[in-house]
Amino acid sequence: MAILSYLSFRNIQNENYLIQKNFDENRASLQKELEEALEKEQGKIFQETKAASLFLYEQPKSLLEFGNAANFKDVNGIEAIFLYNNGSLVYPDISSKLFSYTEHFSSTKPTLAEATLYQSEQDNDRLPEAMFSREMLAHSPLLSPKEQALNVLGLVRIAYKSKDYNESLRLLKILESKPKLQGYLHSDLTRSINLLHFDILVKMKKHQEAEDYCLSVLNQFLQEQTIEDIPSTRFFFETAFTQILSFENLKQDKREAFWNLRSNFNRQLGYTEILMHNQELFQNTLHSDNSSKAGILFKSEGNVTLFRMSYPLLSGNQIVIAKIDEDAYSNRILDKLKNIAQRWNNVPFSISDAKDSLILGSIPDSANVISQVAFNAIPSWQLSLYEKDVGEIRKESRHRMFLMYSLLFFSLVTVLFGSFFMLRFFIQEHKLLAMKANFLSSVSHELKTPLTSIKMFAEMMARGRVMKVEKVQEYSGLINKEASRLENLIGAILNYTRMEHGTGAFKWEKLDFSVCAKKVFEAVEDIGVEKGLSFKTHFDPNVYVMGDYTALYSLAQNLIENAIKYTNAPGDIEIKVYNEDDRAVFSVIDTGVGIPSSEQKNIFNDFYRVGDEMTRSTKGSGLGLAIVKRVAETHKATISLVSKPGKGSNFTVRFRKVD
Ligand code: ADP
Repeated sequence: MAILSYLSFRNIQNENYLIQKNFDENRASLQKELEEALEKEQGKIFQETKAASLFLYEQPKSLLEFGNAANFKDVNGIEAIFLYNNGSLVYPDISSKLFSYTEHFSSTKPTLAEATLYQSEQDNDRLPEAMFSREMLAHSPLLSPKEQALNVLGLVRIAYKSKDYNESLRLLKILESKPKLQGYLHSDLTRSINLLHFDILVKMKKHQEAEDYCLSVLNQFLQEQTIEDIPSTRFFFETAFTQILSFENLKQDKREAFWNLRSNFNRQLGYTEILMHNQELFQNTLHSDNSSKAGILFKSEGNVTLFRMSYPLLSGNQIVIAKIDEDAYSNRILDKLKNIAQRWNNVPFSISDAKDSLILGSIPDSANVISQVAFNAIPSWQLSLYEKDVGEIRKESRHRMFLMYSLLFFSLVTVLFGSFFMLRFFIQEHKLLAMKANFLSSVSHELKTPLTSIKMFAEMMARGRVMKVEKVQEYSGLINKEASRLENLIGAILNYTRMEHGTGAFKWEKLDFSVCAKKVFEAVEDIGVEKGLSFKTHFDPNVYVMGDYTALYSLAQNLIENAIKYTNAPGDIEIKVYNEDDRAVFSVIDTGVGIPSSEQKNIFNDFYRVGDEMTRSTKGSGLGLAIVKRVAETHKATISLVSKPGKGSNFTVRFRKVD
């Protein structure tokens, strides 16, 4: 016991050490795998960004000739891509893109009054009174050009509301044809004018003119030096492009061109907006000299994180700056890291972002931080690895020990059980073999005895030595007796072996035991009466049992015949069959020689016969009670024996009753 305790103590110590060692290795593996996965996924993002940027580099500069918009692949995790060549922006440089479509909208010639307006506008900033004489300027000669322009717009709206589209257009053209006049308006007002103009053309079903007008506004927009109001510009073009794409008579090639134009223009506009809001960061990123060896450099400011991609990822004069979509980028990488973390769920670790909030793993309450690694990821993530809780190590080692001992115990129990059953099996086999050998020798011995007598008498008669008739009669009588003894014996053996083969040979049926016992009694009654015995019987009706008729007949026969055999005249034999609770009872009671208690155990054995005078003088095989025992066993019945030498015997068999 002491040795065992010592051993298990040593074992636990060993286990603790092994677990600690194992844990150190696991921690190192986890860190390595996380770093590798991060690097791999980032590498993928860089490669995808590079592919997208090369696609953009290859596109013609003209917006309309821009390739199929569907071919451009957005990169999951990247919001915008900016291309530089030799230090200057080439995409999205919408202002530098030459718009090849040059057909201007200027078919209507200005009226005289309008011409005067243009003329005077060039001379001074005030609009001539003549221009608005009738409608509105009569009372306000001192209006500023801006106010005058707003007034014209008012007139446009009045005409538009009264569905006088021609008049609306005429007035709009006045406002639009002179850039200087437009300058008086806010740019969102310019877009309102554009939208009104476009809308009127659509209302008048002048689709071709509407398309041309939209393109001319785009052309104008591209030539502007500054882009002041992106939202209203975006709104105008989005509305116009959507309307144009819904024109039924738009040709397929034009539809495609407008579709591409819309995607490309929207993208460029979106990118330009980002550029405009972060000009300083872009300049810093572009001109930063400490670019990494791999050609990637991260830079962030506030919520914006950019990375610069340059040589050797790109060719020498190209630089790409990508703006990260932080959520998508993080999720993309986290997805990969989560898979790894799941596999190492017993190693405590955490990953937190730049704002120090936890994004993966968990921070244990008590464990010490073992190492902290800055992940080279945006936006500066930090990986912390923690010491494994000592309690947890102990718990784990106890758990492992428990498992080990359980396994050991289980194996031991299995081996013990196995051995026990094997032993039992061998003993049974051995017993069976011995019984068989015993049975065979007994059978051959029993068969030999009557055969020897038969042979002897037959030989004597054959040699002609027996001359007297009485002797011949006596000998042939003896031969006959021995032959019938042999017959009985063989019958008993056959009966017995039938029992030996067990229930398989039986025909199970519900039967009335009284009927069976009565049949036996009727068959043997005469022998008993002849011997001078008197019988008392009691057969209850309906004593049902489940059983094999032949086997039960044999049981009753052996018990009743024994009672007759081992009772001297004058004697009484009582045979009873009756129901008792859930049992069917069969009793044979005699006033015969009885059986000494020392013999009562043996008489049920095969070929066993009590060695007294009475037995020797009666014929028997010693198989009768063995058959009774077998039948009772196979029928799940019990046998009880009460016997006293000189007084008599009571054999009672109790069966399970069936209704
Ligand atoms: P046997 O063929 O010798 O009758 P059994 O197996 O029927 O063989 O009986 C075994 C022995 O039990 C008998 O030899 C006999 O000595 C004893 N025995 C059986 N039945 C009785 C009985 N009713 N009264 C006294 N002895 C009995």
